[in-house]
Amino acid sequence: MKIRLARLTATALWVTAVGAGLGGCSNSGASTVPQVVAAAYPFTFVAEQVGRDFIEVRNLTSPGVEPHDVELPPQQLADLSDADLIIVEGGFQPAVDDGLEQIAPTGEVIDVAEIVTLQNAVSNTDTLDPHIWLDPQRMAVVTEVVADRVASLTPEHVGEIRANARRLIEALEQLDAAYTTGLAECARRTFVTSHAAFGYLASRYNLEMVSVSGLDPTLEPSPAEQAAIADTVTREGVTTIFTETLVSPAVAETIADETGARVRTLDPIEGLTEESSDETYLTLMRDNLAALREANGCS
Ligand SMILES: [Zn+2]
Repeated sequence: MKIRLARLTATALWVTAVGAGLGGCSNSGASTVPQVVAAAYPFTFVAEQVGRDFIEVRNLTSPGVEPHDVELPPQQLADLSDADLIIVEGGFQPAVDDGLEQIAPTGEVIDVAEIVTLQNAVSNTDTLDPHIWLDPQRMAVVTEVVADRVASLTPEHVGEIRANARRLIEALEQLDAAYTTGLAECARRTFVTSHAAFGYLASRYNLEMVSVSGLDPTLEPSPAEQAAIADTVTREGVTTIFTETLVSPAVAETIADETGARVRTLDPIEGLTEESSDETYLTLMRDNLAALREANGCS
């Protein structure tokens, strides 16, 4: 703790000195602003929205990589150990949990699993579901905590950080309202997804999620499980089997073929792909709402 406080003070003094003495003409760039490392895209998004130009944010999960099974090469472990602030969610990415234990970081660690209420996975009631970012209300809680910590790293920009956080929280509140209204009146409440990422979204907006592969995107269902999903699709009149951007659609496509359902994308927003790099958490959540409304016949 003593080391951490000393480090924070030194960072704050250095930033203040640069601000007072050199104005905006520092070209060494990265080293003058607090370094934030986030373990996956949704937390990177929050940190960037809140900190803007006053911090530098690195995402441990590269674009196109499925973050559940991310692996951390030595350079990324070094980033973790040098970071002023680290945002992770314990239990979501085993390699990140292990990495943090190995390096004992000097910067502060926000564990998202400790600041929002977790619920059990729909597909496996013994396991906590990590996909909290698909609930805008939980994302607002994460935003508040991240803003507090970022403000303490950049004391001279507290006002701007608070204003950025307020803007993001307002956008999340509008998103939550759009989901509540948009999914209120639907012909069906069951939706079928690739992996079980949408449990928080389903509970928040009173939908029923059936997943092809459970919590782990790399697991494939047994033939019996696959047949049970196909039965549900037929029985409930499900029109659409949702696939996602970072895992193979093969099993979902097979079920769609068997049942006559169509295949569409519902993005679990665990990471951006190269093609979706212009999108943000907020635009992808809007796309997901439109896809759910169409699939479930919502008015
Ligand atoms: Zn997932």
